[in-house]
Amino acid sequence: MKIGFVGLGNMGAPMARNLLKAGHTLQLFDVSAPAVQALADAGALPAVSPKAAATAVECVITMLPAAAHVRSVLTGDDGVLAGIAQGVAIVDSSTIDPASVTAFAALAQRQGNAFVDAPVSGGTGGAAAGTLTFMVGGSTDAYEHVKPVLSAMGRNIVHCGNTGSGQIAKICNNLVLGITMAGVAEGMALGEALGIDPKVLASIMNASTGRCWSSDTYNPFPGVIDTAPSSRGYTGGFGTDLMLKDLGLATDAARLARQPVFLGALAQQLYQAMSTNGAGKLDFSAVIRLYRRDPDAARSTESEIED
Ligand code: NAD
Repeated sequence: MKIGFVGLGNMGAPMARNLLKAGHTLQLFDVSAPAVQALADAGALPAVSPKAAATAVECVITMLPAAAHVRSVLTGDDGVLAGIAQGVAIVDSSTIDPASVTAFAALAQRQGNAFVDAPVSGGTGGAAAGTLTFMVGGSTDAYEHVKPVLSAMGRNIVHCGNTGSGQIAKICNNLVLGITMAGVAEGMALGEALGIDPKVLASIMNASTGRCWSSDTYNPFPGVIDTAPSSRGYTGGFGTDLMLKDLGLATDAARLARQPVFLGALAQQLYQAMSTNGAGKLDFSAVIRLYRRDPDAARSTESEIED
């Protein structure tokens, strides 16, 4: 297929690479010229705008930070809706609120395009390995139409229901993820403070009832899992500001549904504190830094006591 792809960040770039590997032709755009160039070097066709990326393709995929970016990419003068042919499906894999999905779907529908929400889970590792889970919201026809394309980037392609239901699944999953990461960080930091080897503690957790993705795949303690962002200075993973955004989506949706989210609201404040302190671009597993003692601070306290 000839596919238009917009948004080549931590997730979009490896996803686009997997589409290329599967033999699709890609026409792509990102506001970051180096991001486009890297994919062009791998054989994709660079486009000068979202409109150009969406022109004369059979499917358009967007992978952008938040709803405001999706809106501008879709509806701008040089946007996707200005370039796309009638009948071509738009798949948005960004994590955004279900209400925005409904609005974008109505705009697309008005000019004869299906809009499918297909947010993902699996992180940057899953994006690179082509093992993402896609949570798809849309009609059965639209789901069947886009499934072969999504299969080149993911292992589980799940039809969650009508338009917007993919985002509902995603938001609820990330509410749990934000909480479990904070929980694992708390346990690992306590273990360190009490004097157990972090690798031993993680291996016990991962063979016990504390086991979860945050402990066994993405452990926040540096050096426990070589491939996790914690082992490379919390870079190149799922940014704290994006987790903060997702917890905002979850708590907003909960407020509208008059549903309590006690732990989600607390986790939101932890990631907010990180972001406020300048760690918004770091991987969200850096939340463990809120718990770990600063060795320099400990030394200065000891020397002050000695004085
Ligand atoms: P990112 O910030 O790394 O990438 C976003 C890309 O969009 C960047 O390359 C940026 O230049 C581009 N962009 C921004 N505005 C644009 C515009 N107007 N036109 C064209 N390009 C534009 O984000 P990411 O980590 O790739 O995440 C993308 C989405 O996927 C987010 O909604 C995030 O919540 C979700 N997500 C991320 C992960 C993860 O582990 N990183 C996992 C699951 C879901």
